[in-house]
Amino acid sequence: MKIGIVGLGLIGGSLAIDFTALQQHTIIGISRRLSTCQQAIARGIVAAASPELSSLAAADVIFLCTPLEALEPTVKALVPYLSSTTILTDVGSVKGDVVRAIAPRWVNFVGGHPMAGTAEQGLDAAQSGLFVDRAYVLTPAASTPQSAIDTVATLVRSLRARVYQCDPDDHDRAVAWISHLPVIVSASLIAACMGEPDLSVLKLAQTFASSGFRDTSRVGGGNPELGLMMARYNQHELLRSLVSYRSHLDQMIQHIKSNHWQELEDTLAKTQSDRPKFL
Ligand code: NAP
Repeated sequence: MKIGIVGLGLIGGSLAIDFTALQQHTIIGISRRLSTCQQAIARGIVAAASPELSSLAAADVIFLCTPLEALEPTVKALVPYLSSTTILTDVGSVKGDVVRAIAPRWVNFVGGHPMAGTAEQGLDAAQSGLFVDRAYVLTPAASTPQSAIDTVATLVRSLRARVYQCDPDDHDRAVAWISHLPVIVSASLIAACMGEPDLSVLKLAQTFASSGFRDTSRVGGGNPELGLMMARYNQHELLRSLVSYRSHLDQMIQHIKSNHWQELEDTLAKTQSDRPKFL
């Protein structure tokens, strides 16, 4: 199969590595900077690469792996070169607005979101096996042909990802809880710690920080562009989850302030037993 990948960064580059490794496809890369295209060719993870969208004219399937704000303009610019059978799929972390913007422009469009990533960005961060055993969610529109969904699902399964399918808006509500809310909570944790006014205490905290802080601060210390895009594109669902989070935080403050140790223990016992339901 001829596979196009637009945006040779962490996700696009990792897809290029894994599809090339299967030795069943020809991978054509597109990226904004010529230097990134040259680097992808030099690493042998694409058969060809350039910033020219016209080189995807013969692609069977194209993975759109640009930042969220570039997805719709990319499709707009790409469409004049494509044959009507070409399947487009994106990897954006937010789906409702993306599917509403692109599905009317291209019938063979299948929204997608690999639940995989690292705190790094760019082609240097791309790695093999990134999608193995990870959820990869497909969010087709009502009008998306089943054959297009099946083709993307088969490709994604070949990377050993676990394929799921759901409504784009349900996806956004679900990922607000488990992906977007944690970024804001974790970033607020780091910001709150940095607010310690006594610099010697702050220095001590930074020296003592260990695995607990590493775990809870990881997603708040990642690529700021990604956090910003999640908030901008999933604003409604993120705010909804943040308001609920704030009310739980207020409840915790109230328990601690009022010496309600039994209530606090009950809450913590419940969160201890609920956590495995997510992991
Ligand atoms: P990234 O590492 O920054 O890669 C995106 C790459 O796209 C950039 O390196 C840039 O390459 C290229 N690019 C930017 N604008 C472009 C344009 N207009 N046309 C062509 N190429 C362009 O970002 P990423 O983490 O891979 O994220 C990409 C997408 O994956 C986003 O939509 C994000 O929501 C989604 N996603 C990310 C994660 C994650 O954890 N990182 C997880 C799941 C999904 P050059 O400038 O070097 O050419």
